[in-house]
This record gives sequence, structure tokens and C-alpha cells, in this order.
Amino acid sequence: MSTTILVVEDEPAIQELISVNLSFAGHKVLRAFDAEQAQTLIRAELPDLILLDWMLPGASGITLARTLRSDERTRHVPVIMLTAKGAEHDKVEGLEAGADDYITKPFSPKELIARIKAVLRRRAPQLTDDVIQIGDLKLDPATHRVTGGGLALTVGPTEFRLLHFFMTHTERVFSRAQLLDQVWGDHVFVEERTVDVHIRRLRKALEPGKLENHIETVRGAGYRFATQLPNPA
Ligand code: CA
Repeated sequence: MSTTILVVEDEPAIQELISVNLSFAGHKVLRAFDAEQAQTLIRAELPDLILLDWMLPGASGITLARTLRSDERTRHVPVIMLTAKGAEHDKVEGLEAGADDYITKPFSPKELIARIKAVLRRRAPQLTDDVIQIGDLKLDPATHRVTGGGLALTVGPTEFRLLHFFMTHTERVFSRAQLLDQVWGDHVFVEERTVDVHIRRLRKALEPGKLENHIETVRGAGYRFATQLPNPA
């Protein structure tokens, strides 16, 4: 699955090297040279993961990591810190500031990709290719197939991503703005009623398998994926 990764690194050669490797691995890459630029990019599009250099001009990487963790919108975005070799105390401080992992420079592209994969699997399972099954409903990200009630269900691309996100974040209520951030990567330029349109389509797509009631409307709050279907009346 294509994920959007924000690379915050002030050294052009390292930023370029990382970006090229991430693009090559199929990721969409956003680049920033400092914390301020990173914040501007994040306001426009919420990345799926942030690679954050420790030493930056202006606000340090650690300060930015703390800021991201204290903001409701960015709290759940996984952060991998890049630190200089041998700075063991950095690691502790980085993890305390809410980083999910850290990588010591210099690192190989292979290690970088492997670490990103591991963090995404742990923190953002909707971005991995693992098959998910809940009750009768099964979703396979690799083949883009959804089955339910013994039937192959036809699900459009946006509804597929929405369902994938719901199935990896069950029982939690998400507002329309949160779903736009998480599924569309954009809460600024897409209207909230777009979510309602795609929820309707998703329910319709699940109907042949009688699974549409997994998607619950929570009045005044948003939507939730219930793992248990309500008992038929
Ligand atoms: Ca640096």
C-alpha cells in the first residue's frame, strides 16, 4: 500500500538519499528542512509516518516530536527519529518524547525500509497488507478483495480504504474530520459531507453479505465499526 511519509532533515544529501529510497519502495514522500516547514506540510496533509531528524536548525526534532504528540490531530502519527551515532541518551529522550523508534546514522536504506515497515505494522495496520477477518467479513489488501457471507463484495477504492481503516480501528468513534485525515489524508480541502457519501456507498456494498450494520452512525459524533452485528429484530 502506498503511504505518505514526511521526511524532516536539514542536510540536503541525506534528505535526497532517504527520499529516493522511500519513493523507490513505493511511498509518497513529503520533504521539509526544518520543523516550521514540516508543520506547514502537516497542516495541508496528514502524513502516515514522519521521519524526523534530531538536529535541525531552529526548533529541534525532539521539540517537534513533543508538539506532534500534544496535538489531537497528529498524536497518532508514528514518528521515527534519526539520531547521530553513539548518542545513547538521545534514544531515551526521543522515546520519552513519544517517538516510536529511532534510527542511528549512518543507516542503510534496507534498514530504514525495514524499520518503517515494522512501525507501520504496529501503529498503522491499515497501511499494511495483512488480511483482516472480523466475523463473516474478510478484507485482503494485497488482492483488494472483500468477501462476506460467502460472497465476493464489490467495493470501490475509497470505500475499500475506509473499510480497511475501520477494520483495523474497531469500536472507536471517528468524527468526519478524523476520517478525512486518516483515509483521505486531507481534512482541509475535502468537505465533511464527502464522508457521508462514502459511508452510504460502503454500507450498500456490504449489503449483499448482510454486513452493513457493522458501520454504525453515532449521532453528533461520527461513525464506528462494531465488531459484533446487532441481533436481528
Ligand atoms: Ca540534521
